Amino acid sequence: MSLRRIVMHWSAGGHTANSSDKRHYHEIVEGDGNRVEGDHLPEANNSTADGRYAAHTRAFNTGAIGLSMAAMSGAKERPFKKGKYPITPVQLNVFVEMVAEYADTYNIDITRETILSHAEVEITHDVKQKGKWDITWLPGMVKPGHPIEVGDHLRELIKSKQAENFEESMPKMASSDIDSFSEKLASHISEFLKTYKT
Ligand SMILES: [Zn+2]
Repeated sequence: MSLRRIVMHWSAGGHTANSSDKRHYHEIVEGDGNRVEGDHLPEANNSTADGRYAAHTRAFNTGAIGLSMAAMSGAKERPFKKGKYPITPVQLNVFVEMVAEYADTYNIDITRETILSHAEVEITHDVKQKGKWDITWLPGMVKPGHPIEVGDHLRELIKSKQAENFEESMPKMASSDIDSFSEKLASHISEFLKTYKT
């Protein structure tokens, strides 16, 4: 079995990745945007039969990469309290960039079924997750939103990161006119992707 999904999490810990985070996730983004690799390579989750894999999502780890933001310790869903370690804007930015990178590397399409938050797993795949609400809150929100709506927003951000990466990987052209044209084209694509819903 190959890797076919990415599950997005927050750690419910502080802003730094601890040893438990490294055991449970393949990679973690800290509060300052620093990236920390987990103990297991994504490929360890090709099979979970040997017990050596990153256990990040209940009964949903086979073929699933687990990526996380170190954040949200002490946060409460209802009434909402973001606690002392909310997701930071820089952390979110690096996180969506990182998810885009993994999606490219492992050839995983950005759909509700294949790249989803922990909170979406129970709704989309009918696998019980015992009230997990990561990721239903993002910086700037007054309270948590519907898992699918927040998931759709995350997927849009990931798509626009992929469009940016595509622009960066295009060979530089000599004429500055052509450069500015390709920039405009890339930003148009990125705007389009932002409004495009699967
Ligand atoms: Zn989770």
